Amino acid sequence: MTVWLLGDQLSPDAAPLATADHVLMIEAHGFAERLPYHPAKLTLLFSAMRHCRDELRGRGYEVTYVETETFGEGLSEYFEAAPDDALVLMDPPSHGAAARFTELVEERGGTLTVVENDRFLTTPDLFDEWAGDRSVDEGFRQEQWYRFVRREFDILMNGDEPEGGAWNYDDQNRETPPDGWSPPPTPTFDPDALTREVHEFVTERYADHWGNPSLEAVVWPVTRSEALSALDHFVSARLPEFGDYQDALVEGEWALSHSLLSSSLNLGLLHPQEVVDSAVEAYHREEAPLNSVEGFVRQVVGWREFMRHVYRRAMPAMGEANQLEQERELPPLYWDGETDMTCLSEAVSHVHDRGYAHHIERLMVLSNFALVYGAAPQALNRWFHLGFVDAYHWVTTPNVVGMGSFATDVLSSKPYASSGNYINEMSDFCAGCEYTVSRTTGEGACPFNALYWDFLKENEERLRGTGRMGLMYSHVDNKSDEEWEAIRERAETVRERARAGEL
Ligand code: FAD
Repeated sequence: MTVWLLGDQLSPDAAPLATADHVLMIEAHGFAERLPYHPAKLTLLFSAMRHCRDELRGRGYEVTYVETETFGEGLSEYFEAAPDDALVLMDPPSHGAAARFTELVEERGGTLTVVENDRFLTTPDLFDEWAGDRSVDEGFRQEQWYRFVRREFDILMNGDEPEGGAWNYDDQNRETPPDGWSPPPTPTFDPDALTREVHEFVTERYADHWGNPSLEAVVWPVTRSEALSALDHFVSARLPEFGDYQDALVEGEWALSHSLLSSSLNLGLLHPQEVVDSAVEAYHREEAPLNSVEGFVRQVVGWREFMRHVYRRAMPAMGEANQLEQERELPPLYWDGETDMTCLSEAVSHVHDRGYAHHIERLMVLSNFALVYGAAPQALNRWFHLGFVDAYHWVTTPNVVGMGSFATDVLSSKPYASSGNYINEMSDFCAGCEYTVSRTTGEGACPFNALYWDFLKENEERLRGTGRMGLMYSHVDNKSDEEWEAIRERAETVRERARAGEL
């Protein structure tokens, strides 16, 4: 039996391999040109694929590894040598991929059996059983799903009760680090000859792509053993403070105490079960507090699994959703990072430098600004998709189109929109910023503020009625006509300057 292993299924222990002797892998170089993907992302992907190939060969598998332009061409080459072969493929999570691949295989005379993707903890059937009659139009809520998964997989449970008595310690996850705090050093992985070779190829072939082309940008594990050491490093060095500083933003710090495991999870190098087990074991050894461990578990088995299933249920509509009818192009600062706004300049430079920004930079800086500025959700989705090392359509789309842009309410009932106040509370960005966070209007006022109020006013019809926006609209109601005029004027100036690259 031949297993066709995709680039985001890079586990030598993937279930279908247990009964296979032959593996097919296709490195499709033209496919990597659909968007100007970050060179670190492409280097990571191709290097991890080639390392996986070598590991499988070391374990005795025969591996056909095709370097080509498209999956179609790769399959043609394969079936010329092995006509009528039957392939087995783990169900790819991105919408329509299984159907497209089946068509490509059948056109070339082969057959493709699509089996469960074991790189996730929960199956589509389990989610559908949990969701019951609930339809996409009614939306899904993560907290209920998270509790269900905790019970179902007996994670951090005391019998039927959650460990510590509460399901969620989010209220203990909003500290800002004291002055002088610095995060633990990030793990480093020396690029070997194979990674260097791939990097040379990527920077030559994709020379016009966006993002730092230096090999120094490739700070991500490319093998399972590197990924396991990244996991150990996280659990021992970063997990203890992960909870406290989960929502924090600190100038000059790109990683804080975040796990930095998303690229390894999404490539298949790590399994969600093992990362959750490691964190829970650290809690039982009393090496990490409950607010950290629960917070981390919630991200992995709550959010990550939830996003995968909601995406599956909400596509294809989610891809094109735009309930707020926002149509603006992304301003140039997303590409060049040129802005006097410290928060945005920090976050964009982090993405440019390594293809990564942590969750709060993604949500409350990068997508929050695009949301209140009025950028098209699909433009923002493309930007995230090409810029981040962990971005795949199945995970980027629900996060960007659903959570960040509120282009659909399938997974949240209100937008993650905020003024500069939130960023000021959670960060040290505003103190030295050229803009004044305490001011909304006039020259020098924090651009977030006028954009935020203007956004609420513009979208009043859609948002006022949504359950949790009442307090915000009571502030809207308290503003005078003169205040609104000044807000409108400032918002317009901010948008014009952003468009002109002069913010
Ligand atoms: P940590 O903060 O240490 O969290 C641990 C793990 O939890 C992550 O590795 C990740 O696997 C999982 N996780 C946490 N939140 C989410 C979530 N909302 N969705 C899915 N998994 C989650 N995550 C991606 O993997 N790929 C993306 O393309 C992506 N795009 C995002 C875009 C926006 C606008 C937002 C708001 C979030 C996005 N996320 C994405 C989710 C999350 O921000 C990243 O998973 C996380 O920042 C990765 O860094 P980390 O590994 O250090 O995560």
